[in-house]
Amino acid sequence: MPEGDAVWRTARRLHEALSGRVITDSDLRWPSLATADLRGRTTVAVVPRGKHILHRLDDGLTLHSHLRMEGSWRTHDPARLTLRTLRAADVRAVVGCATATAVGLRLGMLDLVRTVDESRLVGHLGPDLLGADWDPDQAVANLLRQPEREIGAALLDQRNLAGVGTMWDAEVLFLQRVWPWAPVGELGPEELRAVVVRVQALVDASKVRRWSVSTGSDRAGEELYVHGRSGLPCRRCGGPVRLSTIGRAPQDRAMFYCPTCQGGLGPQDDGRRQRPLGEGRAGPSRNG
Ligand SMILES: [Zn+2]
Repeated sequence: MPEGDAVWRTARRLHEALSGRVITDSDLRWPSLATADLRGRTTVAVVPRGKHILHRLDDGLTLHSHLRMEGSWRTHDPARLTLRTLRAADVRAVVGCATATAVGLRLGMLDLVRTVDESRLVGHLGPDLLGADWDPDQAVANLLRQPEREIGAALLDQRNLAGVGTMWDAEVLFLQRVWPWAPVGELGPEELRAVVVRVQALVDASKVRRWSVSTGSDRAGEELYVHGRSGLPCRRCGGPVRLSTIGRAPQDRAMFYCPTCQGGLGPQDDGRRQRPLGEGRAGPSRNG
């Protein structure tokens, strides 16, 4: 799942490549947009909102996309763009100007809406970690609306706060030494506030890096504390980091954690030995 900082980096790259320029190439491979043609319009701005990307045009329309689990936008030099890239089966959108071509791959959502109606798409989101509307107290109040919910699941709910994916969820709960399955109401407002302030700081610091980093080191394999590191030694206590699940099916998600540092095994974790996901690999952190 893309994290807020990865979406922010994607939107910034698109903004730098396309804003202020006339669209000369448009191909939206999406059933509801088959006849839409963006050519002749000028890109005003490309902005992130939580995990949504809002590509605003000068005629009052917004091309809205969401990366969902595995989508991405890549920008290419049109002179070097090959037909093979453009014809790939996973291409969902091509939007180009004279100097850059953006190619959307495996997008989870694509719509064209009036810019004034953007709130219908993103109005349900809680305060955005990287937005002007960021408000830790509001995020805490939103979390406390469901006091019985597990903190690790509540942080992923974009209606509470927007921009946390499974990676930042795991990292911030490790850093704050919080058991991911603890009910929100048991943590209390002070501890919850510390968690949301910390996760905002982590995501904000990571947005200007090439990929997400929580440890301060962007060397391969050193970027994160627990996410993607099951079976490997905890960087704090040396005990094995573990992988379990958080939330209820079908919305259950992977949760990496250290039982020693974070208060014990998760309810679904049998404690059996887990093998590392891949020796020498960076893990799932290189998300754009
Ligand atoms: Zn530990």
